[in-house]
Amino acid sequence: AAQEGFEAEEVEGVLGAAGHGPLPVLAVVGRPNVGKSTLVNRIIGRREAVVEDRPGVTRDRVTYEAEWAGRRFKVVDTGGWEQDVLGIDASVAAQAEFAIEAADAVVLVVDATVGATDTDEAVVKLLRRTGKPVVLCANKVDGPSGEADSAMLWSLGLGEPHPVSALHGRGTGDLLDEVLKALPEAPPQTFGGTVGGPRRVALIGRPNVGKSSLLNKIAGEERVVVDALAGTTRDPVDELVELGGKTWKFVDTAGIRRRVHLAEGADYYASLRTAAALEKAEVAVVLIDVSEPISVQDTRIITMAVDAGRALVIAYNKWDTMDEERRYYLEREIETDLVQVQWAPRVNVSARTGRHMEKLVPAIETALAGWETRVPTGRLNAFLGELVAAHPHPIRGGKQPRILFGTQAGTRPPRFVLFASGFLEAGYRRFIERRLREEFGFEGTPIHLSVRVRE
Ligand code: GDP
Ligand code: GDP
Repeated sequence: AAQEGFEAEEVEGVLGAAGHGPLPVLAVVGRPNVGKSTLVNRIIGRREAVVEDRPGVTRDRVTYEAEWAGRRFKVVDTGGWEQDVLGIDASVAAQAEFAIEAADAVVLVVDATVGATDTDEAVVKLLRRTGKPVVLCANKVDGPSGEADSAMLWSLGLGEPHPVSALHGRGTGDLLDEVLKALPEAPPQTFGGTVGGPRRVALIGRPNVGKSSLLNKIAGEERVVVDALAGTTRDPVDELVELGGKTWKFVDTAGIRRRVHLAEGADYYASLRTAAALEKAEVAVVLIDVSEPISVQDTRIITMAVDAGRALVIAYNKWDTMDEERRYYLEREIETDLVQVQWAPRVNVSARTGRHMEKLVPAIETALAGWETRVPTGRLNAFLGELVAAHPHPIRGGKQPRILFGTQAGTRPPRFVLFASGFLEAGYRRFIERRLREEFGFEGTPIHLSVRVRE
């Protein structure tokens, strides 16, 4: 019962497309029977389309690849979602929510022969909130006489309605031209730089923790400067480093080599550098100097990495200075100051002696794997179902909020969306995150959990 109203594989397909694929994603939304599926079939050029004359028909796939004017993108057909179970408004709202999560642009299909209904208005409101570009399709304009119906849809406030006959193909070319304008040119770039190529590592930490020593130790002379941003005083450079049989890109390493003397404002610039490196990186290796107590500056840098949504490894450097007493205090400091990032792989290293250098790459790889983990929707919901049955949300004001359904909306880092019948308390959300980690790993990665309340 927890999954009513959704087809797990469909949702998986939708979000999988946005989470992984390099192609931009277009979502086609609208009320039942306005012609969404007909339009999708038109866009993907599949004439022998399976379109049934009955609302609520569940199709087995919803994501397709399409091409127009030499540009490829993915199309998500939300037409098959089961409005029978949710009710029409809820079903349309769910489409919009998925569009928010998964799409780069949205086509809203309205039946021009019917005109704008309350449901259409409601979905417009939802779409507005997303800030995603919306192209308005006035469908079922089969001939010139329908153009007037189309013009009526200016009232929706979405700009020009594009008259289309999805059935006969009339106007679909113009519509697709608009769609291409709305879609991002290149794949959405959440990490800066291009996707693919060597994995990008930010080696960060407060001044003097040993960043440049570590880089020299692991890479020695095999560093290759690949990129310098000329004209800036700090000249950030990316360097390619051979490690564990692979090539890694250490980003913004000039900031590492240039020793920051504690001039005024040095902290500020150090933190700007850290932010810039994180922006370009996929994984952060945060160095901590174990010869000194863990400081606010250390925890601030870790927080920056987590907030940037990067995979995280914590390297405790200068381990050669370790003695029993310091060890005792360090473990306590970790327990109190770094409890939030218990999930980060830990390596105890010494840039001076080379201790445990070989453990760095496996730790980075573990963190990246966690960062890219995708839980199939079916498995996630089986897990959520059991969890909710065994540990229901506490009753509040006579009501008990229930998780109806969940899905992983993306990776790098993993993002989850839970649909619930009421507000979920922070404590309960933390509990869910903890259990998700126990169940699925997610070592070395932050997790985002968002909850959508459905009345
Ligand atoms: P969905 O529920 O929004 O996916 O709508 P469908 O694509 O299943 O279409 C619903 C009905 O409208 C079907 O009977 C289609 O043949 C019909 N239809 C779709 N597009 C057009 C169109 O451009 N003109 C006309 N006259 N009928 C259409
Ligand atoms: P950065 O500012 O983070 O790049 O730090 P550096 O690499 O310049 O190192 C700062 C100081 O710590 C230097 O004097 C290093 O020799 C020293 N250092 C770096 N790594 C280690 C280590 O593993 N053990 C010890 N004992 N000293 C280290």
